[in-house]
Amino acid sequence: MSTLAEVSAVVDRLWPVSGAESWDAPGLVVGDPDQVVRHVHLAVDAVLDTVDEALGMDADLLLVHHPLLLRGVTRVSEDTTKGAVVARLVRGGCALLAAHTNADVVETGTSRVLAHQLGLVDQRALTQGAAPGTGLGVVGRLPQPTSLVALARQLGDLLPPTASGVRVAGEADRVVETVALCAGAGDSLLGHPDVLTADAYVTSDLRHHPASDARELMLLGRGPALLDVSHWASEWLWLDTAAAQLRRELHDVEVTLSDLRTDPWDFAVVQ
Ligand SMILES: [Zn+2]
Repeated sequence: MSTLAEVSAVVDRLWPVSGAESWDAPGLVVGDPDQVVRHVHLAVDAVLDTVDEALGMDADLLLVHHPLLLRGVTRVSEDTTKGAVVARLVRGGCALLAAHTNADVVETGTSRVLAHQLGLVDQRALTQGAAPGTGLGVVGRLPQPTSLVALARQLGDLLPPTASGVRVAGEADRVVETVALCAGAGDSLLGHPDVLTADAYVTSDLRHHPASDARELMLLGRGPALLDVSHWASEWLWLDTAAAQLRRELHDVEVTLSDLRTDPWDFAVVQ
């Protein structure tokens, strides 16, 4: 039987907390290190839906990508969304553990999983992480040049469906070979040299002004086309890889993953 402390140690081996960004808060959020863990359930977000799903499956640990309590917290009363999540987990005896940017930077991390699914070759991280070979984002080449719209369709096919789908800035028939990507919110890398020289940049949560600036650069021939995908969808792909890694390390622990959509948008009206 494994304890939560033992499972946490495995998690830290797979996704060392030392690799996390300085502003991040990965690790154990809820739970007693001495409690027994027989079943780990994986999700991108700790929200009431995924907590209820974990409790309904009798999971002892909900392992998520996004830390529930990232910023300063002064109360966890149940009239707050985060307090309600914490209370439901504690009452149900289910621990909560987050592997966030520490799981982004490793060679099997969120961006790498997306890059592999796109078939990118000659991959390398966009930033240099604390350990060799680690870092945020990926740049690589498609096995053969394709059109921007074909790349968008490929992304649409491999990502789970969401209301916002894949939004694109660039001519549909623009030829794309070098692709930079960052699973999750990657606007901080819009000015990265390897992003600027890529034919296309795939990421999430691009706001009006950064996206508009990047589009202007593209029109001047000095920046990539943009493909904006659902933040949740881009990171959900990683759960399968994470589950396989945990199963290899924890033979006596059942590992399941959530396919509940925790992307916040329920529908869109196409105009
Ligand atoms: Zn994220």
